[in-house]
Amino acid sequence: MTPESVKAVRRLKELRGVIAGWRQAGESIALVPTMGALHEGHLALVKLARRKARCTVVSIFVNPLQFAPHEDFSRYPREEAADRAKLAEIGCDLVWAPEATSMYGEGFATRVEPGGAALGLEGDFRPHFFAGVATVCLKLFHQTMPDFAVFGEKDYQQLCVIRQLVRDLDLPLKIVSVPTVRDADGLALSSRNVYLSPRERAVAPALFRTLEDVVARVGSGESSIDATLTGRRMLERAGFTKVDYIEVRHAETLAPYVPGEPGRVLAAAWLGKTRLIDNVPLGPT
Ligand code: AMP
Repeated sequence: MTPESVKAVRRLKELRGVIAGWRQAGESIALVPTMGALHEGHLALVKLARRKARCTVVSIFVNPLQFAPHEDFSRYPREEAADRAKLAEIGCDLVWAPEATSMYGEGFATRVEPGGAALGLEGDFRPHFFAGVATVCLKLFHQTMPDFAVFGEKDYQQLCVIRQLVRDLDLPLKIVSVPTVRDADGLALSSRNVYLSPRERAVAPALFRTLEDVVARVGSGESSIDATLTGRRMLERAGFTKVDYIEVRHAETLAPYVPGEPGRVLAAAWLGKTRLIDNVPLGPT
């Protein structure tokens, strides 16, 4: 019989005890970092984690360091009991759910400042975001000592930044990624989709359709500049209230796109108060 809920640990000392026990028993460990409000996209990451390692830890932590003061930190959905029940259904060994005050104790003053893949795109619109993400991920990696950490392609630039962090700082773990899980109409699953009104939800799939249109245009020889300009107009016409960016980049470095090389089309756009991001592959992978 499967348990109805996965055990949650909130204190680092307790977590370290569990991890040390697993290590002594020679078990491998996979970590899935999340901010909770889990959906099928997150669960796809957990399923891969379970195939990679004997023990799976899912962290649930709404990281204050990656939100600007005007962003949605306080209204971000928090549903830990439901999350732990979903995790019990698919199998997960432990939820690591630290309190913000123990993650960032009195006097906390150290940040990881990623460059490279963190520059531009999200970095232009959310200047403190990747320092917040890199800092919390480095802490989570040290806390859980995983052999693998699993991230979604949904947050593609974040995935590139984490790969770079692991490479640059010689962290002893492997990053594995999972393709974006979408609703039937193409909208990428996101914990923030609950913010959308029915009208906005009806417009939202135009983001994925537009990215696919840019891929088709570049594939048939249009320049990436022209294709993304058309993409921007498509999003505005569909009802997006503001387009932060729509760009084609190199798939690994996120440097400017060179035709013939593996690319990625990435976009961020607003529907009222909700900001959606999405991306799709372009060309050889
Ligand atoms: P979040 O809780 O939104 O910070 O996301 C935690 C992890 O789940 C990140 O690695 C995300 O990229 C991944 N993720 C979120 N949504 C999806 C999705 N629709 N498909 C695949 N992975 C996702």
